[in-house]
Amino acid sequence: MTLPVIKNYIDGEWVESNTEVFGDIMNPALGEKIAQVPYGTKEDVDMAVAAARKAYPEWRKTPPITRARYLFRLKEAFEEQFEEIAEILTTEQGKAIDESRGEVRRMIENVEHATGVTTMMTGYCLEDIAKGVDCSLQRQPMGVFAAIAPYNFPGMVPWWFLPYAIVTGNTFILKPSEQVPMTQAKVFEIIDGVGFPEGVVNTVNGSRDVVNALLDHPDIEGISFVGATPTAKYIYERCGATGKRVQALGGAKNIVAIMPDAKIDAAMPSLITSFFGCAGQRCLSGSILAPVGEVADELIEKFISSTKAMKIGSGLDEQTGMGPVISGAHRDRILAYIEKGIEEGADLILDGRDFSHPDFPNGYFVGPTIFDNVTPDMTIAKEEIFGPVVSIVRAKTLDDVVDLINTRGFANAACVYTQNAAVVRQFKYQVNPAMIGVNIGIAAPMSFFPFGGSGNSMFGDLKGHGREIFQFYTDAKVVIERYF
Ligand code: NAD
Repeated sequence: MTLPVIKNYIDGEWVESNTEVFGDIMNPALGEKIAQVPYGTKEDVDMAVAAARKAYPEWRKTPPITRARYLFRLKEAFEEQFEEIAEILTTEQGKAIDESRGEVRRMIENVEHATGVTTMMTGYCLEDIAKGVDCSLQRQPMGVFAAIAPYNFPGMVPWWFLPYAIVTGNTFILKPSEQVPMTQAKVFEIIDGVGFPEGVVNTVNGSRDVVNALLDHPDIEGISFVGATPTAKYIYERCGATGKRVQALGGAKNIVAIMPDAKIDAAMPSLITSFFGCAGQRCLSGSILAPVGEVADELIEKFISSTKAMKIGSGLDEQTGMGPVISGAHRDRILAYIEKGIEEGADLILDGRDFSHPDFPNGYFVGPTIFDNVTPDMTIAKEEIFGPVVSIVRAKTLDDVVDLINTRGFANAACVYTQNAAVVRQFKYQVNPAMIGVNIGIAAPMSFFPFGGSGNSMFGDLKGHGREIFQFYTDAKVVIERYF
C-alpha cells in the first residue's frame, strides 16, 4: 500500500517538494507508518518566500478589519471541522482525544483574539511635544515572517503566531514539526477553502534544511520558534547573526510545590493531568513534585493511587487518560532517564518500564513512573525528560522549594498548591519562571495573555500571543511633525 505524502502549500496551491528525502509519520499508539513527509529543501523555501513577498504589498494595503474578516471565516470553518482536526491530531501525536479537543479549542481562541487587530494594533499620539510640534506612533507590518513548531502541540503552537502575523498585514510561512505535519496539512486545507489571497499563508514541510534556509533567507524579517532549549538557543543565535527579529521558546523542568495546608483531594485531578497528560510531553508538564513538610506521605499515597487508576491506551479511546509517547526513539530516551534515576540512588516507587498494552503491543508506551527521595543534584531532577516520569523532591520549607526552582537551569513554569496568600505572594515574587499556577497544575496562559518562560526556557523578549505578539509582528514608526 502506498502511503499518502504530505505536500507544501505555496502561493495558494498544493505543491510537491522537490526533495528526494522523505521521513515516516507514525501512529504512535500502533507503531505503524501512516504517511510520509518530505524533508524539504532551500528551493522549497525560496519558492515560499517569493510567493509571500509577492503577496505582501497588496495584503499590507488591505484594511485590518478586512484582514480580520478572513479570520472570522476561518474560525467558522474550524468549528465545522473541529472533530476531524482533533482526530488527526490524536492519530499522529498520540495524546488523549479530549486533550486534542482542548488543543484545537486553544488554536481557535488565537484566531478569535487576533481579530481584535483594530484595537490591538493602534498606536498613540501627543500634540505639542514642543510648541507646534506633534508626535505620533503607528504600527506597521514588516514583510515576511516564519514560524518553526515542535511535535507536542501540532495544532495549537503554530497558531500562537500565524493569525497575528497575517492579521497585522505580514505574510507568513509555517514549518510544522516533521514528526506531526498532518494536523497542519488538514488546517491548511481549511485555510485553502477560506480563500485567502495567494501567497499570504504558506507551509513548507521538512527538517533542518528548511529551518536553516528560513533562518538565512534575507527576505524573512523574523522567526517565531518553539522547541527544545538547544534548538531554541541555536535559532536565537543564528537570527542574531542574520539580523532577524526572533522569539525562541525552549524546554522546561517544571516544579509543583505542595504546601502542608494544600487541599490534596481537590488538587489531585489537576496534579495527575499536570504530570501525565500528553504522557508528560508538555512544556508545562509537572516534572518535579515537591511536598513541603509533613504533607509528603499522605500526598504520595493519594498520588500513586490516582495514577494507578488512570487508563493508558490509544488516545482515540474516550476513556484513555494517557496515550503513548511520540516515537520509539523518544521512549528509549525516557527509559534511559529511568535507569539513570535508579543508578543515582532515587527510590523507584512506581515502575513504568515494562508497560505493554495488550491491544497495542507495538505502541510507544511508557507506564507512569514515580521516583521518591530524589535530590536536587540528580540527573532526573535537572534535565528535561519529557515523559511520564515524576521526581519527588521532599522539601522542608518554602524557601527550599524556591531555591530548587531557581537552580534548575530552566524557568518555564512553576506551581504551588496552598490556601495561604502569604505563601503565594512569596512564591510568585521570588521564583524565576514566568508562568505561575496557584492551585493550578498547568499554568497555561490563554490567547489574550503572553505565553513563554524566562532564562533558558525563552530567548527573546516578546512572547507568544497576548498583547505583545502585536508588537513582535509590527514595527513602531514614530512621526514628529510641524507645519510652517
Ligand atoms: P525540537 O527542538 O527537536 O524541534 C522543534 C523544531 O525545530 C522542529 O520543527 C524541528 O524540525 C526543528 N529542529 C530540531 N532540531 C533542529 C536543528 N538542530 N536545527 C534546525 N532545526 C531543528 O523540539 P521537539 O522535540 O519537536 O519539541 C519538544 C520540545 O519543545 C521540548 O523541549 C518542549 O519543552 C519544547 N516546547 C516548549 C514550549 C514552550 O512554550 N516553551 C512549548 C512546546 C514545546
